[in-house]
Amino acid sequence: MSTKHIEFNLNIGKQKPESIINTTTKCPFCDRESLEGIIAADGPILLVKNKYPVLQDTVQTVLIETDECTSELSLYPKEHLYRVFRFGIDNWQQMEREGHYKSVIFFKNHGPFSGGTIRHPHMQIIGLNTIDYMDSVYPEHFEGLVIHKDAEIELNLSTKPRVGFFEFNAILSDLTQLNRLADDVQSVTRYILGNFHRNCNSYNLFFYKLDHAIAVKIMPRFVTSPLFIGFAIPQVSSRLEDVVLDFQEKYLVK
Ligand SMILES: [Zn+2]
Repeated sequence: MSTKHIEFNLNIGKQKPESIINTTTKCPFCDRESLEGIIAADGPILLVKNKYPVLQDTVQTVLIETDECTSELSLYPKEHLYRVFRFGIDNWQQMEREGHYKSVIFFKNHGPFSGGTIRHPHMQIIGLNTIDYMDSVYPEHFEGLVIHKDAEIELNLSTKPRVGFFEFNAILSDLTQLNRLADDVQSVTRYILGNFHRNCNSYNLFFYKLDHAIAVKIMPRFVTSPLFIGFAIPQVSSRLEDVVLDFQEKYLVK
């Protein structure tokens, strides 16, 4: 089986502002008057067409989570957090239902090691014309040491991570309980940015539609290991149990 590639259009990429690197660049998501191509809105939460659609054979949208440039998903009050999750998942599923795409990916970058370029809190929903993202997603990617589990939701720490070393998985089986998914994802982002064993300022969220469930992979990001880059060998930490216990102590045991 050979890998399918997406072409990245460098001519468009060159025009894109880099507000993580160059903090003097005006934030395009704060300048609401100039935002074009608004697809959906819920108060301060917007879904817009990506102004810099660098990926060929895709439809790229940006979900602007808030009008507060320096805020962060880990800091949102619960009411706003739930609104962002509801809005994001609704629009992701809406794009899938439209049926124009082979698949639709939904993810978030935060911080310099996450692959993101704009600081303002946002996510991306991208329709892929030719690729089914599930072709390289396997059930084992969501297996892990259980942090907590009940009939509605499971939170675990990957024993077979896609990339390594630590990947948290929140798997929601009862799709009516979206707020619980949002709670778990927020707790993990707080843990990653605040209490993790090394200084960590970056993470990704990746959303997956599984059979009868929605999974979110929450990945703390560092410089990617050469074993993965060069040989596609993922690594797993020998400290998984410690991290599970530490997380349980800080976020589950009150
Ligand atoms: Zn901004």
